[in-house]
Amino acid sequence: MPKPETPLETLLKAQIAASGPITLHDYMATCLLHPDHGYYTTRDPLGRAGDFITSPEISQMFGELLGLSIAQAWVDQGAPATFVLAELGPGRGTLMADLLRATRAVPGFHAAAQVHLVEASPSLRAVQQKTLAAHAVTWADTIDKVPHDTPLFVIANEFFDALPIRQFTRHSDGWCETIVGVAQGALVKGYAAPIHIPDLAHRLADTNPGDVVETRPDATPIMARIGTQIAAHRGAAVIIDYGNWRSKGDTLQAVQGHSFADPFAAPGLADLTAHVDFEALANDAAPALATGLTDQGAVLARLGIGARAERLSRNLTGAALENHLSATQRLTRPEEMGSLFKALALYAPHCPPPPGFD
Ligand code: SAH
Repeated sequence: MPKPETPLETLLKAQIAASGPITLHDYMATCLLHPDHGYYTTRDPLGRAGDFITSPEISQMFGELLGLSIAQAWVDQGAPATFVLAELGPGRGTLMADLLRATRAVPGFHAAAQVHLVEASPSLRAVQQKTLAAHAVTWADTIDKVPHDTPLFVIANEFFDALPIRQFTRHSDGWCETIVGVAQGALVKGYAAPIHIPDLAHRLADTNPGDVVETRPDATPIMARIGTQIAAHRGAAVIIDYGNWRSKGDTLQAVQGHSFADPFAAPGLADLTAHVDFEALANDAAPALATGLTDQGAVLARLGIGARAERLSRNLTGAALENHLSATQRLTRPEEMGSLFKALALYAPHCPPPPGFD
């Protein structure tokens, strides 16, 4: 028996029948953020009951330590009296809640911070509203909507991997874009005819025919905005995600119920992500400066996760203590999230990078 179609599958097939195959970028954008049937639009996917779990949901230490790094960067820049503290894709609001709790004792930090949450999903905004009920926060659809004329401190965990990618397969000196069409009644991946892509000219030197590279056009204006504001008014950005310094290979993946799934089988019901190309993010953020790419485990170790974990463990026993110890390992060990996840910081010329980054 054929599997039941998801509502988005029906819509996408009709669109493709009427106007031809769509790019992987447009497929991913529709699956994730379609106003009625998008994956993020319609649900809270995080946590054990959802499809995946993220570092802030694993342990409060993640938001606490990164928050203290940002607060120290603010102090190092002379503690500007007003600044924007923006989080991109805040999920359940857990990271921001932990950051704000950990920085309560930093004199002047809360009074100076205007907290802005950049969130596209109405479902997740509702969750964030509950988590952050004790704080004054403002929501924005895009980073464009946050004030321009102040120092800008940004945090983003697992945000960029959720932005849609374009994907290209090298063909002599041109590129075949990955597209999505319909064959035998099912959505299937295909390839457009090879064309020259000026933005990929530099990748002809480090790829061979058949190699796959991915770009993330929607990240470019976001990074340009962040980089320009940080360079002009000071601030810093801390970006954590899975990926590498330069994109290579097909990294599109679908996750449903904590397992990998076929990205084309159930549009709107599975999370779709792709690895982050941190080199592209850093380049797009010029004239802000970028640190080297550092493993999440190394950054957390430098920020003192060992001492913080030990301090928290003193009040715990039994299952709670075991959970805390395994959460600490999960965030830091290379074979768990410690080196799959990487961290990059952006900072203003003539200012030091945030602690934990070099
Ligand atoms: N940072 C959170 C959640 C990661 S999931 C955590 O670490 O737990 C990705 C988040 O980005 C979700 O909140 C999702 O709704 C949001 N998001 C995805 N695409 C977006 C877009 N284009 N604009 C704004 N938010 C987006």
